[in-house]
Amino acid sequence: MKPRLFIAGHRGMVGSALLRHAIGLGEWDPLIADRSTLDLLDSTATLRFLETHRPEAVIIAAAKVGGIHANNSLPADFLYDNLLIASNLIHGSFQTGVKRLLFLGSSCIYPKFAPQPIREDSLLSGPLEPTNEAYALAKIAGLKLCAAYRRQHGCLFHSAMPTNLYGPGDNYHAEHSHVIPGMLRRFHEAKEQGLPEVAIWGTGTPRREFLHVEDLADACFHLLEMPEPPDWVNVGWGDDLSILELAELVAETVGFTGLITTDPSKPDGTPRKLLDTSLLKARGWQPRIRLADGLRGAYADFLSSLADKTLRT
Ligand code: GDP
Repeated sequence: MKPRLFIAGHRGMVGSALLRHAIGLGEWDPLIADRSTLDLLDSTATLRFLETHRPEAVIIAAAKVGGIHANNSLPADFLYDNLLIASNLIHGSFQTGVKRLLFLGSSCIYPKFAPQPIREDSLLSGPLEPTNEAYALAKIAGLKLCAAYRRQHGCLFHSAMPTNLYGPGDNYHAEHSHVIPGMLRRFHEAKEQGLPEVAIWGTGTPRREFLHVEDLADACFHLLEMPEPPDWVNVGWGDDLSILELAELVAETVGFTGLITTDPSKPDGTPRKLLDTSLLKARGWQPRIRLADGLRGAYADFLSSLADKTLRT
């Protein structure tokens, strides 16, 4: 019998990529639960679900997520929901004898002014970026909870910290999305409406690294099979670009030929967020999908979801 793997958050961009990957690999028996069946904010319901289905492994891809604006304006929701999701699933997994658990976080757990590229040991060495502090604190708590259960009880609970992700199934909300889906949508609409210019948020000077969600899914399964995984490990592309350079690439992908301007009244967020990925590389994993190729696929996914009215916003 194949081992049962619970993918928490399978409707999201990361969870759905994990599910596709698990099905493709054919080595796991994937277990999923819709929000109507299981409310991950409810500890009793989460424990009951784990007791009933007894997964051998769990990946926590469920989270309340959003871009710079959502994080900045809904700090209570981001902190409370993400703390509960992490603690309900991690503690419930321990109680029900889950053998292996992979918790997904984000590169925003690292201090705002961490030396770049950011190594795993920068964690908790300085203040966080204020625009996403609430989300980051919940993810740090989840990571530490996994490490604590591993140390105290010997269970293989560990974490992966991906850089900014993009790909099929992204959220294209006009204000609450991350930069790539936000820009794909705005440049597309500008092209459709024949607008002469698009203003990107902030100064365009912050630098960001982007990883395709299929690469992240591949890394997660690589980590799940590692006999002695690190407590937490960075998952990134290894190189970054400025937001203005990204805007030019998105405009080219979409076919928008007008002017790109900046809107410094919107926040820039952290100046740079590039992960040092040497630890995972040394453990035999590397990403494959280049940004220009990944963006073409993401735009095709945007267009098809728009056409069949399944666009997540
Ligand atoms: P962050 O990586 O946590 O800062 O989150 P985002 O992905 O939301 O934003 C990354 C950077 O892109 C920030 O400097 C934003 O100001 C900038 N940006 C430019 N245009 C957009 C946009 O349309 N949407 C978003 N979310 N960010 C944008």
